[in-house]
This record gives sequence, C-alpha cells and structure tokens, in this order.
Amino acid sequence: MMSAIQSASAIKLAIVGVGKIVHDQHLPAVAANADFQLVASASRNNTVEGLPGFRSIEEMLAAVPDIDAVSLCMPPQYRYAAAHAALSAGKHVFLEKPPGATLSEVADLEALAASRGLTLFTSWHSRYAPAVQPAKAYLAAHAPTSMHVVWKEDVRHWHPNQEWIWQAGGLGVFDPGINALSIVTEILPSLIFLNRATLEFPENRDAPIAAQLHFQDAAGMPVHAEFDWRQTGKQSWDIIVGTAAGELKLSDGGARLWIAGVEQPLGKEAEYPSLYRRFAELVRAGRPDVDVAPLRHVADAFMLGKRSVVDAFHD
Ligand code: NAP
Repeated sequence: MMSAIQSASAIKLAIVGVGKIVHDQHLPAVAANADFQLVASASRNNTVEGLPGFRSIEEMLAAVPDIDAVSLCMPPQYRYAAAHAALSAGKHVFLEKPPGATLSEVADLEALAASRGLTLFTSWHSRYAPAVQPAKAYLAAHAPTSMHVVWKEDVRHWHPNQEWIWQAGGLGVFDPGINALSIVTEILPSLIFLNRATLEFPENRDAPIAAQLHFQDAAGMPVHAEFDWRQTGKQSWDIIVGTAAGELKLSDGGARLWIAGVEQPLGKEAEYPSLYRRFAELVRAGRPDVDVAPLRHVADAFMLGKRSVVDAFHD
C-alpha cells in the first residue's frame, strides 16, 4: 500500500502526452503550485523545455523511480494503457477529461487504484469555472423547472487538424459537449437521464459534428442540450435554467453568471489552478475522486441516439 505524501514535501509530478492542453494550462498551473515539483515528461514526439523527456511512460517510470504522480493528457483512446502502467507502478493518477474511451476501462482503473491505495482523479476542468459552485448553491435553494444548454463552437478554430477527435473514441462534438455535461451534473440537484437524441455524423468521419439531447429528471423537469461544431461568428457556451424565482444563466463556459438578469460577482481562481489544488489535496489524503456521470451521459447518447449522415467535414 502507498502512504499519503506528507504536506512538507512537494509531490513529484510527471506529465504524459505533451500537446495543446499541457502547454496552455497544465504547465502554468503546476509551475504556480508549490505542492508540485515537475520532474519529467513522456511524449512520443514532444518534450517540455528544461525537463528530462522520455518517449513512453514505461521508459519514464523505469528511469525516474521517485515520481509520485502523473497527469495523463493524451487523447482519451490512449489513456487507459498509460493509467494502468502508472497505477501498477504505484503512482497517483490525474486523468484529463474525458477520463477514458469507455466506462468499463475507467471502472477497471478505479478498482486498481483502490486496491493499491492510490489516488485516481477524473478531472472535469469545467466544474472549476467560477460560476459553477454559486449556480449549484442557487439551484439547491431554488428548484429548477427547466434547463437549456447551448454549446456551439467552431471546430476549425478550437481543434484544427486534431485527427484523434474525429476517430472512434475521440467523441467528436462531445469533446466540448462533455464539459457542458460536467457542469450540468454538478449544478443540478436531481439526477437526469436521456430520453431521446439525434447525432449528426459527417459522411467521412467516425464521430459526430452535432447533437441534440433531450433529458429529464424523475419529476419530468426537461433538460435540452444542443451541441454544434459548425458555429462561426459568436461562440456559445451557455446554460440557462428556469426557476420560480427567475432565470439563472451561466455563460462563457461558466466564467459568468446572471441570476434574474443581474450579473453576479464571482471568484477569480481559474480552472486548472483549482484542479491542481484539488489533486494535491487528494494525493496528500490518499483519496480517489472518480465521477463518470458526464461520460455516462455521452455513452447513453451513443447508445440511444438516432444517427443522421451530414456533409463531409474537411479541416
Ligand atoms: P493534442 O494536442 O492533440 O494531444 C496531446 C498529445 O497527446 C499530443 O501532442 C501527442 O503527443 C499525444 N498523442 C496524440 N496521439 C497519441 C496517441 N495515439 N498515443 C499517445 N499519445 C498521443 O490534444 P489536446 O488538445 O492537448 O487534448 C488532450 C486531452 O486534453 C483531450 O482529452 C482533451 O479533451 C483534453 N482537453 C483539451 C483542451 C483543449 O483546449 N485543447 C481543453 C481541456 C481538455 P506526442 O505525439 O508527443 O505523443
């Protein structure tokens, strides 16, 4: 059994799968957090300046045995093998979202982490947006009567030439859409489930470019979500919730919050610094944080949704 890492010593962290999100978010967040010391990276083609870099996680774990924890930032189809290798070597694991390509592989990792006394963290960065906890508190006190989610963005701008995202397991438009679902499942006081869905697949791709999802809770409260990657011009990452006391609107992916038409003051901590603060707490306490609710809704959409074939998509 691993023991929790004492608060006096930094957690020796390695990053695996060095790409866009590592450069944009992980490296600055880790550099600003004294709980972590970044000691190595593993990536087939990329390195992090100033750090020992290895071509594979196996090579890295063999060469740097005192690594305490790893952040796995490669595409989801390749996360299970790396997570299994890390947990088997006794390392705590931070999984980028989505935590895997299937629900069952995440369940397997959860069991492995538990058997070794290690932290497995299914990170959902959008849940750490500043509007999310205030929205959750408001909806705990003012029951929602309806919810409308609009997540529409330009895939050419946000995911240029990302082949994995269009392949099976890459989730297509659910790659951003799962961020919306991570917020929905955090702020709603009741569980929801999918009734019907439509998924639009470009004729030359294995993952959808758009989806319409209709959920409800046990009391019949409707939740409608629209995901679309063909949006040009203004981008939308909005969640609008009806309540008897007025409308709650969370916009810009949770960066802003309006209640009954009045914009609310929010905390300033950004998503990834909050994620790493949480990961440090978990590692030091030797506890897991595994929640697959957003991934389960996506799996349900692939299981229940009607499929339509739409125009081919070319980057
Ligand atoms: P990315 O830049 O396309 O990929 C990250 C890195 O993974 C690549 O640079 C590549 O490094 C490695 N990789 C690619 N294919 C691989 C394979 N077949 N096997 C092993 N490693 C592979 O993607 P990203 O945008 O950083 O996204 C990575 C994850 O972060 C995704 O799950 C995504 O949902 C999540 N995320 C992304 C964003 C964003 O804004 N981009 C935001 C939040 C979360 P090497 O070629 O050097 O191995």
